[in-house]
Amino acid sequence: TMDSQPETTARRHQRIIMFPVPFQGHINPMFQLANLLYSKGFSITILHTNFNAPKTSNYPHFTFKSILDNGHENERFSQSSLADFAQNFLFKQDAAEAFRDELELLLASVQDEQVSCLITDALWHFTQSVADSLNLPRLVLRTGSLYSTIVYSSIPLLDDRGYFKLDDSHLEEQVSEFPLLKVKDVKKIGIKSSKDPLAQLLGDMMKQIKASSGIIWNSFKELEETELERVPDDFPIPRFLITFPKYFTASSSSLLEQDQTIFPWLDQQPTKSVVYISFGSLSQVEEKEFLEIAHGLVYSKQTFLWVVRPEFVKGSTWVELLPDGFPGERGRVVEWAPQQEVLAHEATGAFWTHSGWNSTLESVCEGVPMICSSVLADQALNARYMSDVSRVAVYLENGLQREEIASAIRRIMVDEEGKEIRERARVLKQIADVSAMKGGSSNKSMESLIDYISSL
Ligand code: UDP
Repeated sequence: TMDSQPETTARRHQRIIMFPVPFQGHINPMFQLANLLYSKGFSITILHTNFNAPKTSNYPHFTFKSILDNGHENERFSQSSLADFAQNFLFKQDAAEAFRDELELLLASVQDEQVSCLITDALWHFTQSVADSLNLPRLVLRTGSLYSTIVYSSIPLLDDRGYFKLDDSHLEEQVSEFPLLKVKDVKKIGIKSSKDPLAQLLGDMMKQIKASSGIIWNSFKELEETELERVPDDFPIPRFLITFPKYFTASSSSLLEQDQTIFPWLDQQPTKSVVYISFGSLSQVEEKEFLEIAHGLVYSKQTFLWVVRPEFVKGSTWVELLPDGFPGERGRVVEWAPQQEVLAHEATGAFWTHSGWNSTLESVCEGVPMICSSVLADQALNARYMSDVSRVAVYLENGLQREEIASAIRRIMVDEEGKEIRERARVLKQIADVSAMKGGSSNKSMESLIDYISSL
C-alpha cells in the first residue's frame, strides 16, 4: 500500500543477522523467512558455512559472510560429508569463540544501521550465550513442527518412564502421557537414552530456546491448534507461527539443481493423475526397500514422478539397481525436482513423502493428499499427525512392501475410500490460504513478529 512504503524504507536501517544450519531442510525455511523479513523492509545478513554454502547470486539483496569451516571450499552434500559436518559442528558446537569474534566484527562494521537481532536455527544452541554476552537479542527458527518440538522437549520424561527401552512387543502401544504418540513413533526418533549425543543436542536446543527472545515455527495455528494449547508452559517466550511456503518458494535455496524438464511432461498429464515421490535430502533406503518402492509404483498402475537423489540407495550411486524397462511409459525418474512447483501443478494428485516437515507443509499448502513414510528423527511424528489428526494422509507405518504401497497409492489417488482424505486435503489448503491472507492467523503472526523485532 502507499503508506507502508516509507515505513519499509525506514526499516532498511534495521539489520537482522541470520544463521541457518546447512542442511537443505533447514536452509529452505531460513531463506523463506529471510525473504519475508526483507520484504518488510529489514536488511539481511546471512552467516553461512562453506559446506553447503547458499547460492549467493540468487540473493543479490542480502549480505553474506562465511564462518566456521574455512577449510573446505563450497562442498556440496554427499552422505559422508554430511555426517562429518554434523560430527564436527552440530554435535561439538565448540565454535562459540569464532562465532563471537565474527559477530563482534559485524556489529562494529555496521555504521548508520542498527542490528535488531540474531535469528539462528534452534539447533545452534551455543549462539545464545554469545548473543547474551553482546547484548544482542536472539530469536530461534525451529524448522520442525510444534508437535515434534513438544515431543522432543519431553525426551527426558520419556526416558524416565522407560519408553526408549521397551522391546518390539510394545511397538503398537500408546504412550499414555501423549494421546497421539505410539511407542514406535518414539523409537523412530533414533534415541536410545537421554544420554545419547542426539538427545543431548536436542536437550541443549530446548534449554537455549527457552533462554531466547522468541521462537518462530514454520506452521500455522489452524494446523496445530491442540498443540498450541500445550506450549505455553514449555516455552514462556514470544511465539510465532508463519506458513512460509505461502509467501516464498523453498526452491530458490535448493542446493542441488532442480530438473525443470519435467514441466512439459507434467503439462500433458490429466488433472490430479500423477503421484510425486520424494524422500527429501537426507533419508536413505536399503536396496531391498528401493526395489519394493519401484515394484509398488508399477503395481499401483498410476503415473508417477519419482525423485531418486544420488546416494538415496545405500551402497549404490543412483538408479543402477532398477529392473530393465523401468520406469516405462508411466513414469519419470529424476535426481532432484522443483518440489514446491511440482506440488502446485494441477497434474499432481498425491505426494508420497518421507514426512520431513518442509515437505509435509508444502503438501498441505498445495492441498495435495499424502502417502507418508518415515525413516528417522521427527518424520514418524509428522506422519502420525498428518494421518491421525489432520487426516490428509495414509501412513505406511509398517515398512515398505510392494502390495501395501500399491494399495496406499490407489487409495489416495482413485479409490472411493480415499475420497474423504482428498477432500480434507483440499479444505486444509483453503484454511492455509485464509491463514496467510490479511487478518488470517499466519499473517497476524507475521505482523506481530515484524512489530516485535522493530521494538527490540
Ligand atoms: N526438495 C526439493 N527437491 C526435491 C526434494 C526435496 O527441492 O527433489 C526440497 C523440499 O521442497 C523441501 C526440502 O527439500 O523444502 C526437504 O526438506 P524436508 O524437511 O522435507 O526433508 P529433509 O530433507 O530435511 O529430510
